[in-house]
Amino acid sequence: MIFGVPELEDLGDLDGKSVLVRVDFNVPINHGEISDDLRIRAALPTLRWLQKQGASVTACSHLGRPKGTPDPRYSIAPVRARLAELAPGVELLDNLRFDPGEESNSDAMVASLVDGHDAYVNDAFGASHRAHASIVGPPQHLPSAAGRLLAKEIGVLLGLRDQPRRPFVAVMGGAKVSDKLTVIEALLEVVDAIVVGGGMAFTFLKAQGHSVGSSLLEEDMIDTCARLLEQPKPIHLPTDVTALGPGGKLFEPEAGGEVRQAGVDLPDGWMGVDIGPGTAAAFGDVIMDAGTALWNGPMGVFEDPRFAAGTNAVAQAFAETRAFTVVGGGDSAAAANQFGVDDRVDHVSTGGGASLELLEQGDLPGLEALRSSADH
Ligand code: ADP
Ligand code: MG
Repeated sequence: MIFGVPELEDLGDLDGKSVLVRVDFNVPINHGEISDDLRIRAALPTLRWLQKQGASVTACSHLGRPKGTPDPRYSIAPVRARLAELAPGVELLDNLRFDPGEESNSDAMVASLVDGHDAYVNDAFGASHRAHASIVGPPQHLPSAAGRLLAKEIGVLLGLRDQPRRPFVAVMGGAKVSDKLTVIEALLEVVDAIVVGGGMAFTFLKAQGHSVGSSLLEEDMIDTCARLLEQPKPIHLPTDVTALGPGGKLFEPEAGGEVRQAGVDLPDGWMGVDIGPGTAAAFGDVIMDAGTALWNGPMGVFEDPRFAAGTNAVAQAFAETRAFTVVGGGDSAAAANQFGVDDRVDHVSTGGGASLELLEQGDLPGLEALRSSADH
Protein backbone atom coordinates (compact mmCIF):
# COMPACT_ATOMS: atom_id res chain seq x y z
CA MET A 1 0.00 0.00 0.00
CA ILE A 2 1.12 3.51 -0.70
CA PHE A 3 -1.09 6.30 0.69
CA GLY A 4 -3.91 3.73 0.91
CA VAL A 5 -3.51 2.59 -2.70
CA PRO A 6 -2.78 -1.13 -3.21
CA GLU A 7 0.51 -2.02 -4.93
CA LEU A 8 1.49 -4.99 -7.11
CA GLU A 9 2.45 -7.15 -4.12
CA ASP A 10 -1.08 -6.72 -2.73
CA LEU A 11 -2.56 -8.63 -5.68
CA GLY A 12 -1.54 -12.02 -4.23
CA ASP A 13 -0.59 -15.03 -6.32
CA LEU A 14 -0.75 -14.18 -10.04
CA ASP A 15 0.59 -17.45 -11.44
CA GLY A 16 -1.58 -18.44 -14.40
CA LYS A 17 -3.78 -15.37 -13.99
CA SER A 18 -4.65 -12.85 -16.70
CA VAL A 19 -3.86 -9.23 -15.82
CA LEU A 20 -5.14 -6.12 -17.62
CA VAL A 21 -2.71 -3.18 -17.34
CA ARG A 22 -3.71 0.40 -18.20
CA VAL A 23 -0.55 2.09 -19.43
CA ASP A 24 0.15 5.53 -20.88
CA PHE A 25 1.65 4.75 -24.30
CA ASN A 26 0.55 8.11 -25.71
CA VAL A 27 3.93 8.53 -27.45
CA PRO A 28 4.82 11.08 -30.14
CA ILE A 29 4.53 9.50 -33.61
CA ASN A 30 5.71 11.15 -36.84
CA HIS A 31 4.95 9.46 -40.18
CA GLY A 32 4.32 6.15 -38.44
CA GLU A 33 7.60 6.28 -36.50
CA ILE A 34 7.80 6.64 -32.72
CA SER A 35 10.09 9.61 -32.06
CA ASP A 36 10.41 8.98 -28.32
CA ASP A 37 9.57 5.63 -26.69
CA LEU A 38 10.24 6.76 -23.11
CA ARG A 39 6.64 6.14 -22.06
CA ILE A 40 6.79 2.55 -23.30
CA ARG A 41 10.07 1.89 -21.54
CA ALA A 42 8.73 3.50 -18.36
CA ALA A 43 6.06 0.77 -18.06
CA LEU A 44 8.51 -2.12 -18.47
CA PRO A 45 9.25 -2.69 -14.75
CA THR A 46 5.54 -3.32 -14.13
CA LEU A 47 4.96 -5.44 -17.26
CA ARG A 48 8.07 -7.57 -16.66
CA TRP A 49 7.32 -8.05 -12.96
CA LEU A 50 3.83 -9.33 -13.80
CA GLN A 51 5.23 -11.74 -16.40
CA LYS A 52 7.80 -12.97 -13.89
CA GLN A 53 4.96 -13.85 -11.51
CA GLY A 54 3.57 -16.14 -14.21
CA ALA A 55 0.72 -13.84 -15.28
CA SER A 56 -0.35 -13.34 -18.87
CA VAL A 57 -0.38 -9.60 -19.47
CA THR A 58 -2.66 -7.47 -21.65
CA ALA A 59 -1.85 -3.76 -21.88
CA CYS A 60 -4.23 -1.02 -23.00
CA SER A 61 -3.69 2.69 -23.75
CA HIS A 62 -5.09 5.65 -25.57
CA LEU A 63 -3.05 7.30 -28.34
CA GLY A 64 -3.74 10.86 -29.42
CA ARG A 65 -7.21 12.29 -29.61
CA PRO A 66 -9.37 10.26 -32.00
CA LYS A 67 -13.04 11.12 -31.75
CA GLY A 68 -14.48 7.84 -30.43
CA THR A 69 -14.14 6.03 -33.73
CA PRO A 70 -11.32 4.10 -35.44
CA ASP A 71 -8.97 6.54 -37.19
CA PRO A 72 -5.84 5.35 -39.02
CA ARG A 73 -4.01 8.54 -38.01
CA TYR A 74 -4.04 7.20 -34.45
CA SER A 75 -3.18 3.59 -35.24
CA ILE A 76 -1.56 1.85 -32.30
CA ALA A 77 0.36 -0.50 -34.64
CA PRO A 78 3.78 1.25 -34.25
CA VAL A 79 3.39 1.07 -30.47
CA ARG A 80 2.46 -2.60 -30.65
CA ALA A 81 5.57 -3.31 -32.74
CA ARG A 82 7.88 -1.48 -30.32
CA LEU A 83 6.27 -3.19 -27.32
CA ALA A 84 6.78 -6.61 -28.94
CA GLU A 85 10.53 -5.85 -29.02
CA LEU A 86 10.72 -4.50 -25.48
CA ALA A 87 8.32 -6.87 -23.69
CA PRO A 88 7.72 -9.96 -25.83
CA GLY A 89 4.48 -11.74 -24.97
CA VAL A 90 2.61 -8.67 -23.69
CA GLU A 91 -0.59 -8.15 -25.69
CA LEU A 92 -1.79 -4.61 -26.52
CA LEU A 93 -5.46 -3.75 -27.09
CA ASP A 94 -6.50 -1.29 -29.77
CA ASN A 95 -6.46 2.47 -29.10
CA LEU A 96 -8.95 2.88 -26.23
CA ARG A 97 -10.30 6.16 -27.64
CA PHE A 98 -11.52 4.42 -30.80
CA ASP A 99 -14.53 3.54 -28.59
CA PRO A 100 -16.67 6.46 -27.37
CA GLY A 101 -17.33 4.43 -24.20
CA GLU A 102 -13.77 5.12 -23.01
CA GLU A 103 -14.24 8.84 -22.43
CA SER A 104 -17.93 8.55 -21.45
CA ASN A 105 -17.03 5.72 -19.04
CA SER A 106 -19.83 3.44 -20.32
CA ASP A 107 -20.71 0.20 -18.55
CA ALA A 108 -20.40 -1.68 -21.84
CA MET A 109 -16.83 -0.45 -22.33
CA VAL A 110 -15.88 -1.40 -18.78
CA ALA A 111 -17.47 -4.85 -19.21
CA SER A 112 -15.55 -5.50 -22.41
CA LEU A 113 -12.29 -4.37 -20.80
CA VAL A 114 -12.53 -6.60 -17.72
CA ASP A 115 -13.86 -9.62 -19.67
CA GLY A 116 -11.46 -12.56 -19.35
CA HIS A 117 -9.16 -10.88 -16.82
CA ASP A 118 -8.51 -11.77 -13.18
CA ALA A 119 -6.81 -8.57 -12.00
CA TYR A 120 -6.22 -4.96 -13.04
CA VAL A 121 -3.18 -2.73 -12.74
CA ASN A 122 -3.13 1.02 -13.38
CA ASP A 123 0.30 2.30 -14.43
CA ALA A 124 -1.00 5.28 -16.42
CA PHE A 125 -0.34 8.21 -14.11
CA GLY A 126 -0.73 10.75 -16.92
CA ALA A 127 -4.35 9.61 -17.46
CA SER A 128 -5.37 9.02 -13.84
CA HIS A 129 -6.96 12.45 -13.41
CA ARG A 130 -9.62 11.45 -15.94
CA ALA A 131 -12.66 9.38 -14.94
CA HIS A 132 -12.45 7.33 -18.14
CA ALA A 133 -13.63 3.72 -18.42
CA SER A 134 -10.18 2.14 -18.44
CA ILE A 135 -9.12 4.17 -15.38
CA VAL A 136 -12.07 4.00 -12.98
CA GLY A 137 -14.07 1.03 -14.33
CA PRO A 138 -11.99 -2.14 -13.82
CA PRO A 139 -11.30 -1.56 -10.09
CA GLN A 140 -15.06 -1.94 -9.46
CA HIS A 141 -14.89 -5.48 -10.81
CA LEU A 142 -11.36 -6.85 -10.35
CA PRO A 143 -8.73 -6.91 -7.61
CA SER A 144 -6.65 -3.89 -8.56
CA ALA A 145 -3.36 -2.18 -7.83
CA ALA A 146 -1.04 0.63 -8.85
CA GLY A 147 1.91 -0.34 -11.06
CA ARG A 148 5.49 0.70 -10.28
CA LEU A 149 5.35 4.00 -12.19
CA LEU A 150 2.07 5.10 -10.65
CA ALA A 151 3.21 4.06 -7.16
CA LYS A 152 6.37 6.17 -7.55
CA GLU A 153 4.36 9.23 -8.64
CA ILE A 154 2.00 8.82 -5.68
CA GLY A 155 4.87 8.41 -3.24
CA VAL A 156 6.79 11.44 -4.46
CA LEU A 157 3.91 13.86 -5.06
CA LEU A 158 1.79 13.02 -2.02
CA GLY A 159 5.03 12.83 -0.01
CA LEU A 160 5.66 16.44 -1.04
CA ARG A 161 2.30 17.49 0.31
CA ASP A 162 2.71 15.46 3.47
CA GLN A 163 6.15 15.96 4.93
CA PRO A 164 8.41 18.06 2.72
CA ARG A 165 11.94 18.91 3.79
CA ARG A 166 11.84 22.65 4.46
CA PRO A 167 12.00 25.23 3.17
CA PHE A 168 9.72 23.97 0.41
CA VAL A 169 9.86 26.20 -2.69
CA ALA A 170 7.60 25.93 -5.73
CA VAL A 171 8.91 27.47 -8.95
CA MET A 172 6.02 28.25 -11.28
CA GLY A 173 6.12 29.50 -14.84
CA GLY A 174 4.69 28.84 -18.27
CA ALA A 175 2.08 30.56 -20.29
CA LYS A 176 -1.29 30.55 -18.57
CA VAL A 177 -1.92 32.05 -15.14
CA SER A 178 -5.56 31.00 -15.05
CA ASP A 179 -4.66 27.30 -15.43
CA LYS A 180 -2.22 27.40 -12.58
CA LEU A 181 -3.69 29.89 -10.11
CA THR A 182 -5.72 27.26 -8.29
CA VAL A 183 -2.55 25.18 -8.06
CA ILE A 184 -0.64 28.16 -6.65
CA GLU A 185 -3.42 28.72 -4.11
CA ALA A 186 -3.36 25.07 -3.06
CA LEU A 187 0.45 25.02 -2.94
CA LEU A 188 0.50 28.07 -0.68
CA GLU A 189 -0.99 25.79 1.99
CA VAL A 190 2.08 23.54 1.93
CA VAL A 191 5.04 25.49 0.55
CA ASP A 192 7.15 28.15 2.28
CA ALA A 193 7.65 30.32 -0.79
CA ILE A 194 6.61 30.56 -4.42
CA VAL A 195 8.82 31.73 -7.26
CA VAL A 196 6.95 33.01 -10.31
CA GLY A 197 8.52 33.43 -13.76
CA GLY A 198 7.40 32.83 -17.33
CA GLY A 199 4.43 34.44 -18.98
CA MET A 200 2.35 34.21 -15.82
CA ALA A 201 4.65 36.61 -13.97
CA PHE A 202 3.29 39.58 -15.93
CA THR A 203 -0.21 39.33 -14.52
CA PHE A 204 1.35 39.44 -11.04
CA LEU A 205 3.58 42.40 -12.04
CA LYS A 206 0.56 44.19 -13.47
CA ALA A 207 -1.25 43.58 -10.17
CA GLN A 208 1.63 45.44 -8.49
CA GLY A 209 1.04 48.39 -10.79
CA HIS A 210 3.86 47.81 -13.29
CA SER A 211 3.47 48.40 -17.00
CA VAL A 212 3.96 45.17 -18.88
CA GLY A 213 3.97 46.38 -22.48
CA SER A 214 2.84 43.65 -24.88
CA SER A 215 3.73 40.80 -22.51
CA LEU A 216 1.27 37.98 -21.84
CA LEU A 217 -1.44 39.33 -19.58
CA GLU A 218 -4.67 37.85 -18.26
CA GLU A 219 -6.70 40.92 -17.33
CA ASP A 220 -9.39 38.99 -15.48
CA MET A 221 -6.79 37.40 -13.20
CA ILE A 222 -5.20 40.65 -12.00
CA ASP A 223 -7.43 40.88 -8.92
CA THR A 224 -6.76 37.29 -7.95
CA CYS A 225 -3.02 37.87 -8.30
CA ALA A 226 -3.28 41.00 -6.17
CA ARG A 227 -5.09 39.00 -3.47
CA LEU A 228 -2.44 36.26 -3.55
CA LEU A 229 0.30 38.85 -3.15
CA GLU A 230 -1.36 40.01 0.08
CA GLN A 231 -1.17 36.65 1.83
CA PRO A 232 1.85 36.29 4.14
CA LYS A 233 4.01 33.73 2.29
CA PRO A 234 6.65 35.20 -0.03
CA ILE A 235 5.89 35.19 -3.75
CA HIS A 236 9.13 36.00 -5.56
CA LEU A 237 8.57 37.89 -8.81
CA PRO A 238 11.04 38.94 -11.53
CA THR A 239 12.96 42.17 -10.92
CA ASP A 240 14.29 42.26 -14.47
CA VAL A 241 13.22 40.69 -17.74
CA THR A 242 14.56 40.01 -21.21
CA ALA A 243 12.26 41.77 -23.65
CA LEU A 244 11.66 41.68 -27.38
CA GLY A 245 11.10 45.04 -29.02
CA PRO A 246 8.49 46.21 -31.53
CA GLY A 247 8.68 44.39 -34.86
CA GLY A 248 10.48 41.39 -33.38
CA LYS A 249 9.02 37.92 -33.74
CA LEU A 250 9.40 34.83 -31.57
CA PHE A 251 11.37 32.05 -33.29
CA GLU A 252 12.31 34.45 -36.12
CA PRO A 253 15.52 36.30 -35.21
CA GLU A 254 15.85 37.36 -38.87
CA ALA A 255 12.63 39.38 -38.52
CA GLY A 256 14.65 41.92 -36.55
CA GLY A 257 13.38 43.60 -33.42
CA GLU A 258 15.70 44.51 -30.59
CA VAL A 259 16.29 42.19 -27.63
CA ARG A 260 16.98 44.17 -24.48
CA GLN A 261 17.45 43.64 -20.76
CA ALA A 262 14.79 45.65 -18.97
CA GLY A 263 13.48 46.21 -15.47
CA VAL A 264 9.86 45.40 -14.76
CA ASP A 265 8.31 48.45 -16.37
CA LEU A 266 8.19 47.86 -20.09
CA PRO A 267 7.45 50.48 -22.73
CA ASP A 268 4.51 49.97 -25.09
CA GLY A 269 5.17 47.34 -27.74
CA TRP A 270 7.84 45.53 -25.72
CA MET A 271 7.18 41.94 -24.75
CA GLY A 272 8.79 40.24 -21.73
CA VAL A 273 9.78 36.78 -22.89
CA ASP A 274 12.31 35.61 -20.29
CA ILE A 275 13.38 36.46 -16.78
CA GLY A 276 16.49 38.67 -16.78
CA PRO A 277 19.94 37.70 -15.48
CA GLY A 278 19.43 39.37 -12.10
CA THR A 279 16.20 37.51 -11.54
CA ALA A 280 17.74 34.23 -12.74
CA ALA A 281 20.53 34.63 -10.17
CA ALA A 282 18.09 35.50 -7.37
CA PHE A 283 15.77 32.59 -8.22
CA GLY A 284 18.85 30.34 -8.30
CA ASP A 285 19.70 31.36 -4.73
CA VAL A 286 16.18 30.55 -3.52
CA ILE A 287 16.41 27.11 -5.18
CA MET A 288 19.90 26.48 -3.76
CA ASP A 289 18.66 27.24 -0.23
CA ALA A 290 15.55 25.04 -0.50
CA GLY A 291 15.01 21.71 1.23
CA THR A 292 12.43 20.71 -1.36
CA ALA A 293 12.00 22.32 -4.77
CA LEU A 294 9.15 21.74 -7.21
CA TRP A 295 9.30 23.13 -10.75
CA ASN A 296 6.34 23.59 -13.05
CA GLY A 297 6.51 25.81 -16.11
CA PRO A 298 9.44 27.36 -18.02
CA MET A 299 10.76 30.84 -17.10
CA GLY A 300 10.60 32.10 -20.67
CA VAL A 301 10.05 31.10 -24.27
CA PHE A 302 12.96 28.66 -23.97
CA GLU A 303 12.16 27.09 -27.36
CA ASP A 304 13.68 30.26 -28.89
CA PRO A 305 17.42 30.23 -28.00
CA ARG A 306 17.37 34.02 -27.48
CA PHE A 307 15.04 33.53 -24.52
CA ALA A 308 16.30 30.28 -23.02
CA ALA A 309 18.78 31.65 -20.47
CA GLY A 310 16.33 32.03 -17.56
CA THR A 311 14.92 28.54 -17.92
CA ASN A 312 18.43 27.14 -18.30
CA ALA A 313 19.52 28.92 -15.09
CA VAL A 314 16.62 27.44 -13.15
CA ALA A 315 17.37 24.01 -14.65
CA GLN A 316 21.01 24.24 -13.52
CA ALA A 317 19.96 25.33 -10.03
CA PHE A 318 17.65 22.31 -9.86
CA ALA A 319 20.60 20.09 -10.81
CA GLU A 320 22.95 21.66 -8.27
CA THR A 321 20.81 22.26 -5.19
CA ARG A 322 20.87 19.81 -2.30
CA ALA A 323 17.09 20.07 -2.16
CA PHE A 324 14.84 17.15 -3.04
CA THR A 325 13.82 18.16 -6.57
CA VAL A 326 10.70 17.38 -8.58
CA VAL A 327 9.88 18.55 -12.11
CA GLY A 328 6.29 18.34 -13.34
CA GLY A 329 4.64 19.53 -16.54
CA GLY A 330 5.25 18.54 -20.14
CA ASP A 331 7.17 21.63 -21.22
CA SER A 332 9.19 21.80 -17.99
CA ALA A 333 10.19 18.16 -18.41
CA ALA A 334 11.17 18.92 -22.03
CA ALA A 335 13.25 21.89 -20.77
CA ALA A 336 14.95 19.74 -18.12
CA ASN A 337 15.81 17.29 -20.87
CA GLN A 338 16.98 19.99 -23.29
CA PHE A 339 19.27 21.53 -20.67
CA GLY A 340 20.66 18.13 -19.68
CA VAL A 341 19.49 18.03 -16.06
CA ASP A 342 16.70 15.45 -16.25
CA ASP A 343 18.86 12.77 -14.62
CA ARG A 344 20.17 15.16 -11.97
CA VAL A 345 16.77 15.91 -10.43
CA ASP A 346 15.13 13.46 -8.06
CA HIS A 347 11.88 12.97 -9.95
CA VAL A 348 10.52 14.01 -13.33
CA SER A 349 6.79 13.44 -13.27
CA THR A 350 5.29 11.66 -16.28
CA GLY A 351 1.99 13.49 -15.93
CA GLY A 352 1.44 17.18 -16.64
CA GLY A 353 -2.21 17.75 -15.76
CA ALA A 354 -2.26 14.75 -13.45
CA SER A 355 0.69 15.92 -11.34
CA LEU A 356 -0.79 19.40 -10.86
CA GLU A 357 -4.19 17.99 -9.97
CA LEU A 358 -2.70 15.55 -7.49
CA LEU A 359 -0.69 18.33 -5.83
CA GLU A 360 -3.73 20.57 -5.77
CA GLN A 361 -6.38 18.11 -4.58
CA GLY A 362 -4.36 15.39 -2.90
CA ASP A 363 -6.17 12.71 -4.88
CA LEU A 364 -7.19 11.65 -8.40
CA PRO A 365 -10.19 9.68 -9.74
CA GLY A 366 -7.87 6.82 -10.74
CA LEU A 367 -6.38 6.59 -7.24
CA GLU A 368 -9.76 6.71 -5.53
CA ALA A 369 -10.89 3.84 -7.74
CA LEU A 370 -7.87 1.72 -6.79
CA ARG A 371 -8.33 2.51 -3.09
CA SER A 372 -11.95 1.37 -3.05
CA SER A 373 -11.09 -1.77 -5.04
CA ALA A 374 -9.31 -3.03 -1.95
CA ASP A 375 -12.77 -3.53 -0.39
CA HIS A 376 -13.73 -6.47 -2.54
P1 ADP B 1 4.24 23.04 -18.56
O1 ADP B 1 3.91 22.19 -19.78
O2 ADP B 1 5.63 22.75 -18.03
O3 ADP B 1 3.17 22.96 -17.52
P2 ADP B 1 3.10 25.42 -19.75
O4 ADP B 1 2.45 24.56 -20.78
O5 ADP B 1 2.26 26.08 -18.73
O6 ADP B 1 4.28 24.57 -19.03
O7 ADP B 1 3.89 26.60 -20.47
C1 ADP B 1 4.91 26.35 -21.41
C2 ADP B 1 5.01 27.45 -22.42
O8 ADP B 1 5.07 28.74 -21.83
C3 ADP B 1 6.27 27.30 -23.23
O9 ADP B 1 5.93 26.88 -24.53
C4 ADP B 1 6.89 28.71 -23.24
O10 ADP B 1 7.29 29.13 -24.52
C5 ADP B 1 5.75 29.57 -22.73
N1 ADP B 1 6.24 30.79 -22.06
C6 ADP B 1 7.09 30.87 -21.03
N2 ADP B 1 7.33 32.15 -20.70
C7 ADP B 1 6.63 32.91 -21.56
C8 ADP B 1 6.48 34.33 -21.75
N3 ADP B 1 7.11 35.20 -20.97
N4 ADP B 1 5.67 34.74 -22.74
C9 ADP B 1 5.04 33.86 -23.53
N5 ADP B 1 5.13 32.53 -23.39
C10 ADP B 1 5.92 32.05 -22.42
MG1 MG C 1 2.56 22.58 -21.42
